[in-house]
Order: sequence, then structure tokens, then C-alpha cells
Amino acid sequence: MYKIFFSVVGIGFIMSSCGQQQPLVAEGKSIDYQTYAHLSKAKITHLTWDVEADFDQKIIKGSAAYDFENHQAKEIYFDTSLLTIDSVLLNNGKKTTFEVGELDAVKGRSLKVNISPKDKKVIIYYKTSPEASALQWLDPEQTHDKKHPYLLTQGQAILTRSYIPIQDTPSIRITYEATVRVPKGLLALMSAINPKEKTEDGVYHFKMPQALPPYLIALAIGDLEYQAIDQRTGVYAEPTQLKDAAWELADMGKMVTAAEGLYGEYPWGQYDVLILPPSFPFGGMENPRLTFSTPTILVGDRSLTNLIAHELAHSWSGNLVTNATWNDFWLNEGFTVYFERRIMEALEGKDYADMITVIGYQDLKTSMEMLPANLTSLYIDLDGINPDDAFSDVPYDKGYLFLKMLEDRYGRAQFDVFIKKYFKENAFKTTNTEDFITYLKDNLTNGEDDFVQNWVYDTGWPKGLVVPTSRLFELVEKQYATDIVQIQKRQAISDKLPQWSTNEWLHYIRLIDVAVLTKEDLALIDKRYHFTDSKNAEIQCAWYEKSFRLKYEKVNANAKAFLTQVGRRKFIEPLYLALKQTNQMDLARDIYKEARPNYHFLARQTLDVMLENPK
Ligand SMILES: [Zn+2]
Repeated sequence: MYKIFFSVVGIGFIMSSCGQQQPLVAEGKSIDYQTYAHLSKAKITHLTWDVEADFDQKIIKGSAAYDFENHQAKEIYFDTSLLTIDSVLLNNGKKTTFEVGELDAVKGRSLKVNISPKDKKVIIYYKTSPEASALQWLDPEQTHDKKHPYLLTQGQAILTRSYIPIQDTPSIRITYEATVRVPKGLLALMSAINPKEKTEDGVYHFKMPQALPPYLIALAIGDLEYQAIDQRTGVYAEPTQLKDAAWELADMGKMVTAAEGLYGEYPWGQYDVLILPPSFPFGGMENPRLTFSTPTILVGDRSLTNLIAHELAHSWSGNLVTNATWNDFWLNEGFTVYFERRIMEALEGKDYADMITVIGYQDLKTSMEMLPANLTSLYIDLDGINPDDAFSDVPYDKGYLFLKMLEDRYGRAQFDVFIKKYFKENAFKTTNTEDFITYLKDNLTNGEDDFVQNWVYDTGWPKGLVVPTSRLFELVEKQYATDIVQIQKRQAISDKLPQWSTNEWLHYIRLIDVAVLTKEDLALIDKRYHFTDSKNAEIQCAWYEKSFRLKYEKVNANAKAFLTQVGRRKFIEPLYLALKQTNQMDLARDIYKEARPNYHFLARQTLDVMLENPK
């Protein structure tokens, strides 16, 4: 997943699980606190999903049939959240009894199905709730083309259980096939082998032959069309956005080739990207074969495609070699950020990679200052914590800095051999922090590991950190310093604009010190660079935040339009936080009231708390 937060976690709403159950040991040594699955009894291996998407009722209904390994068990356990279980059949077609457990605020409910020690198949008939946390049902006006409804799912971290009864732990892998019935005129896509055009009857069949962890099952339904970029890459989008999307992502084939050049063959066959409506809460989600992406990367200059490099990198780190539990999430994300920057360096050069590294470091710094200490280590013990509440920049950028430190220490050539081997030897397996450290000792550090405890398990900043720098950002800093002197002296400013990329503009805006400048100063900066009129979401978010903090009200109308249209959490949450921290709760609530229906469940959950639940 591309980074969600701009550090708004840690403002005091870490939810506590009220569950009474003992944590269950997943395979390996890690404890997965978020699942009811007793994997040592019975473990699913294949899903046959047969469902209908009912847009009127906003529910999915049908059946989930499982093949499973049975270790002489008399029951098999699943995770569920807000599901109605109608009946459960065994492989002989006979109904069996089942029990739905008590509600746990984080984990949902267990589903215990009674089986005999010889059973190997089970079919669960069920329906979802309109409140299912993984399902985002969009009305036509919430889509790009505003003509047809849309459905998208988000399984990570523990949401898949809200639309499929499943053993919802990243420590297992399953293959799946699916039949999905949707309203005529819409196309259905999954993290599987996908159709390229709509069917007459709205029935779609899917097959995913490569085993994946349940959080990577994904479904999207909408008025979608496909455009190939080359033989193995392409883009899906709503019809009037398809051309722009294909232009922006024209280098995707090269990106896959660059990634393969670094760490081995792309393991999933096809690589396509689905451009989602603007309310998608994340930057991107690495659903195998079909990355889900925010439309906010379509800025017309290909400057934000590192988000796609990030999701592509997950094809190795995360999807191929998967964190065994969410405690080990840094293994998924730290590796992916490192790999993303190596892809971008190969494609765009070192200057580009340095810029995104510095931006990542700035985000990390903000996070480290705001987070409670227990969330600032790479390995996080999630006992009693919802993984969604623990997500921050730490697993991403502190994880990156750890791997970068290893690269510097052992040399790039040796480090690349290590990573390539690590992906190859752990392909289609899960790994946890402890196993990774053992692997590191055996294959790179020759037992030298005095730094590991400090980097991986200790909270706060690691010792001996090398702070990243960027040559191009130093030029931006010079320009900024010159501008500020002129602005504060109210001197005439040159109207010659620098030829900068999005990242350089973003860095410029981030330099604005709201403790020093006034709103009159902001107005002069705006007069020169026209940030208020920008259509680039990265620039809009950064500029509106500074403007909110200095009460530069000229942005308010545009900022409101932005916040009611875009649902990406990285953009919306810091803006509401800026309003809250500057005592502009009336404005925040006024905007939120209108924007809330467009936001994803997870964004609403955060903002309801931040804005004291006005709804
Ligand atoms: Zn990611």
C-alpha cells in the first residue's frame, strides 16, 4: 500500500481490543492477534467464490467454498465481520452446524463450523452488510464520469473478513476462482486473470492460480475500459479518463523491465493498473496483477509515477514474500520503499530518487514527532491494537533507512545479491522479523548484528542515521531564501518561474514556515506562483495546509472543493488537522458535513474522532 498517513495517528485514538480470546499462533514464530483461525486444526488452501453484487441494497451475497487441510479436526474457524451466515454445507452436500462468536471491536466475530476429521471441503452461504468495512459503494456522482455506480474493495489489513468469511491472516496463502454477477453495462475486475471488456450478461469468471494471502483478494466493479500499454502491462479506467491514464502511465512496461533487472523475474504474469474514482482512500493498493491507484497521480507530467513503482515493487516485497503478521508490516513496506526508489533511480536518475527520499524522510520526521513511542519501532507488538491504527510512515521510511544503511555498509553490489536471493528463496512464503534477522545474519552480515536491536526493536531514531539529502532540493532552498527576502521587504519579484517538477514545488511549499510568515506573505507567494489555482493534488494539499494554518482565506473555496472531491487520506487528514489545530472547527465541520459521504469507512473513522463525531 502506498503511504496512507501524513501522521495523524497518534493523536490519542488507538483503539483497544476488548477481546477475551488468547492470541493464536500463526505459522512460524509471530503471533497474529487479529485472527480467530486455528491454523493447526484446519487451514484453507483454495477459495471458490460465487456471488452477486447488489447495488440497490449495497450488499454482496452468495457462497464461499473452501478446500482445506484438515489435521484431524472437528471444527474449522473463520474470521467474519458484519456477515450474515445463512447456512454451511460440507463436501457431501449435507448441512452442518456452526456457531458465530461474540463481537470483538477489532477482530469482528469468529465463525466455528463443525466438521468431521475427514472433511476437506466446506461451503458457506452468506451476505454482507451495507456497512461492510472493505466495501466502498459509490453513487454515480462520486465517480469520474458520473454515470454509473461503482464498487471497490480494500482488504488490507483485516477487512477482507467483512465481505468474505475467511481465515484472514497474512500467514496463509490460497489460490482462488470466482464467479461474480454485476449489473449489465459494468465491468468486474479482480486480483486475478482479468477480462478486457464487458460481457453481455454481467457475469464474470476469474481465476487466480498463484497463491496469495487473503488481504490481497480484491474486486472492483464499474464502467471501465482497458487500454494496453504493451504486451504485459495496461490500464483500466472510466472511459473519459482512460486516455489521460494511459499517457501518464506510458512507461509502465519499462518500469517492470527495470524492476526485473534489479531483483528477478516479475512473478505474476500480467501487470495492470486500475485508476479509481477520487474517493479511494489510499494512494495505491498492490492487489496482484491489478494495482489499484488513486487518480491524483494523473497530473499530466508523469512526475508522480513513483507511486506505481511502489505498487509494482510490492509484486516482490509483500505479495511474493509476505509479512507473517501485521507486527512485521515493515518487512512489506520498508523493502517496497527501498525497491521503489531503486526502480525510480534506474528510470529517472539519482536526482529524482534523492528527491522522493528526502520527502519520505520529512514525512517520517513528522510522524516520529507525533506518534506514541511504541509505534516508532520497526517491529510493533499489536496486541490490543487495530493494525489500521498503527499504520504510519515508520514501517515505510524507517524501514527504508534501515535497508539503505545496510546497502551503504556492505556495498550496493553485495546488497543487491542478498535481496535477489532473499526474494527467490522466500517466494510464495511468509516471513517474520525474527526469521528475517536470522536470514540477514546468515547471508549478509556474517553474524555481525550489534545494530539490529537498535534499528528494528528500539523506539525513536536509530543511532548513526545518515540524513538523506537532495542536490535539486538545495537549489529550491536557495530560490526560497531569495524569494522570502524579497517578499518580506515587499520588493518587486521577478516573474520568471522556475521549471520545476511536482516534487520540487512540493519541497518549496514545505519550506514555508508558518511561525515566521504572515498571511500577507502567503498572498505574495501565491501572486507569484498561483498555488491556490493548482490542480495538482500534492501541491494543493501542501499549500492549503499552510494557508489554513495562517488563515489565508483565499484558498477556502478551492480547498473545500478539493476536500469534497478527493478522499485520499494522505491529503484530507492533515488538512482537517490543520483546521482543528488552528481553532477553525466550524469550517472543518462545515466542509466535513458535505464531504463525509464521499469518504471511505477508514477515513470517516479517523475524522469522526478528530472532529468529535459531528456526522
Ligand atoms: Zn506499500
